[in-house]
Amino acid sequence: MDLAGAARALGAARRVAVLTGAGISAESGVPTFRDAQTGLWARYRPEDLATPQAFAREPQLVWEWYTWRRELVARAQPNAGHRALVELAACVQHMTLISQNVDHLHELAGSRDVLKLHGSLFANIREDDRLPVADSDRTDDVPPRCRVTGQRVRPGVVWFGESLPADVLHAALEAAREADVFLSIGTSSAVEPAASLPFMASQRGATVIEINPDTTPLTGRCEYSLRGPAAEVLPVLVRHAFASVE
Ligand code: NAD
Repeated sequence: MDLAGAARALGAARRVAVLTGAGISAESGVPTFRDAQTGLWARYRPEDLATPQAFAREPQLVWEWYTWRRELVARAQPNAGHRALVELAACVQHMTLISQNVDHLHELAGSRDVLKLHGSLFANIREDDRLPVADSDRTDDVPPRCRVTGQRVRPGVVWFGESLPADVLHAALEAAREADVFLSIGTSSAVEPAASLPFMASQRGATVIEINPDTTPLTGRCEYSLRGPAAEVLPVLVRHAFASVE
């Protein structure tokens, strides 16, 4: 693991793009999709619940799964990895934080303007037109209905097979194209289009650094693969990159 080389590249970068996945929240107690689910949910695969087809077929089951995930995330606190990214943003001239996570732990840590590619667990939208619904405008049914239109209310996340919010994706692509350094943290690099962002950055000349305890399709194709948990590796990387500013 070439921490020194990665730190040198990061310390010299003017524009940094960061992509995070479920792994950065793992040490906050939020399970990744790969971790086994517990209790009632152990018999379901997340890929089978996080789809529009699942919600159409079994709306109550899907809504309750999201209620379980919301409660789990609501109890979680940001960890040293989330906090290191707040510090990084303060050290570099320009940083864009792109996240596939639907939790709010980056925001709780203090990161601003997070590009949330997959939406938020804490937002609710109408099933048909995907417009936001305020809590005061929804019924107590499971799942709730919008009092104004009667449409079913669903979580404000992007499900498998759905398109990403165009403005958010556009900003993420631009950040990847312009980055001097691209950091990919805690993501399996398996879900498109997020998985393509580091490759796109690399083609434009960015140095790509991956932080993950496991190998991914990106591992063999990036300059630096720092193998370990984000909450341990990220603070050390940021400290080494900006040692002279402390
Ligand atoms: P993923 O579950 O496919 O992969 C998680 C990755 O994190 C794996 O490569 C794993 O090796 C790595 N990892 C595990 N522990 C880690 C740690 N301590 N530090 C660093 N890396 C660690 O998740 P993904 O790549 O984000 O993509 C799948 C989808 O999962 C996304 O659409 C996302 O919306 C959704 N998801 C989000 C959350 C969340 O918001 N916290 C949780 C579960 C799933």
